[in-house]
Amino acid sequence: MSLHTHSIAALAEGLAARRFSAVELAEHFLKRIESANPRLNAFVTITRERALADARRADEARAKGGAPRLAGVPIAHKDIFCTDGIRTSCGSRMLDNFVAPYDATVVEKLARAGTVLLGKTNMDEFAMGSSNETSYYGPVRNPWDLAKVPGGSSGGSAAAVAARLAPAATGTDTGGSIRQPAALVGISGIKPTYGRVSRYGMIAFASSLDQGGIFAASAEDCAYLLHAMAGFDPRDSTSVDSPVPDYVGELGTPVKGLRIGLVKEFFGEGLDAATAALVQASIDRYRRLGAEIVEVSCPSLPLSVPTYYVVAPAECSSNLSRFDGVRFGYRCENPKDLLDLYKRSRGEGFGAEVKRRIMTGTYVLSAGYYDAYYLKAQKVRTLIANDFRRAFAAADLLVCPTSPTPAFDLGSKVDDPITMYLNDIYTIGANLAGLPAMSIPCGFIGHLPVGLQLIGPHFGESRILSAAHAFQRETDWHRRTPAAYA
Ligand code: GLN
Repeated sequence: MSLHTHSIAALAEGLAARRFSAVELAEHFLKRIESANPRLNAFVTITRERALADARRADEARAKGGAPRLAGVPIAHKDIFCTDGIRTSCGSRMLDNFVAPYDATVVEKLARAGTVLLGKTNMDEFAMGSSNETSYYGPVRNPWDLAKVPGGSSGGSAAAVAARLAPAATGTDTGGSIRQPAALVGISGIKPTYGRVSRYGMIAFASSLDQGGIFAASAEDCAYLLHAMAGFDPRDSTSVDSPVPDYVGELGTPVKGLRIGLVKEFFGEGLDAATAALVQASIDRYRRLGAEIVEVSCPSLPLSVPTYYVVAPAECSSNLSRFDGVRFGYRCENPKDLLDLYKRSRGEGFGAEVKRRIMTGTYVLSAGYYDAYYLKAQKVRTLIANDFRRAFAAADLLVCPTSPTPAFDLGSKVDDPITMYLNDIYTIGANLAGLPAMSIPCGFIGHLPVGLQLIGPHFGESRILSAAHAFQRETDWHRRTPAAYA
């Protein structure tokens, strides 16, 4: 077996037993990245020197004894997480030259856990998009089919893990940006409960929705990484001070007796028939594993897309006001005066989708429209959260599709934002309610993977991961890799 097909547990075990060194492991992945990246465009920065330095440190720690469990395990970070001394572009011309003077908490925690940084991954500009086509650095391609999108906004991280260029990669999920790309490239991806993972140093898009999480081949691999990332952070005021469970230790929790809820509203119009059939087959598998299947209803959920596209732009218009060409980031050439500096720096630094969001957000927050749009959306958000609360009284876990269709053609939706936005119809609800949710591979349509989404109650990460693990013990969808990257 080659090193890139190892699970995280097998990598950690091989490193501990000195079957290979962290430096050899880093070299193995760096070579894969350097050969595949010109085609996939999954990485915007490859940190070869940093990776080798991290790996040497991990090898020394292993030699001394007492090294952390993940010492020497290579990972990649979405380019939205600030990394001390390494460029953090957020997929934007605005931050093309930005080098943060500090590490995001997630970066710091994963470094302390002994991981080796391979590089920073491509993403939709400021995490706005569902196809990774809004990046200033060009689109990422889906390793299963180079003519298809990998999903977004964490498309680079997803493609990197799918092509086994990294065993795991971080992502962020504001409306589906971990789960949807995980589904479209056939890997596992978990968005934790809002507040579970620190947002400190994670460039803000929509602060009440953003949450960092992880991509890996399997739920078990995700459990190792999530355990290292999660936990209270006094530097993030929305971080929750509650102990982090032993996600790995609890993976074996049986599915028997688990009440799995099917949200009626998620199985209607707009869902591709072949996707629906694979989701149904997965539900049958859970039934055979001893789960009890119940139907639940979330009547306000169909309003999640319009609600999100008021709340998220409103928050982004405020968050992105800091990029003014004065303090950091892009500055236009030869401004006439201060106003010209602001206008041209923002006009030239931001791409079309980001501008569309800023304009929408500014509009819905403006005095005359605040009540009609923003306040109304906040009310609907509460209705959606209440729907989920009721659903979780009847069910322990909700199961549904992640994305209405498999990966679509590059270029096919870029000029039609509404169609693009509708991609997130099954994922946005969890963000509006702050719930943890995960996508795992559940089959293929032709040569393209399909994802199954598991949504849990607040702080139900362990329940999600163990249910996903039970599914992956019975299936091998998560082990399939695109032929070109086997
Ligand atoms: N696709 C959604 C959007 O464009 C969600 C993005 C995300 O989760 N960051 O806003």
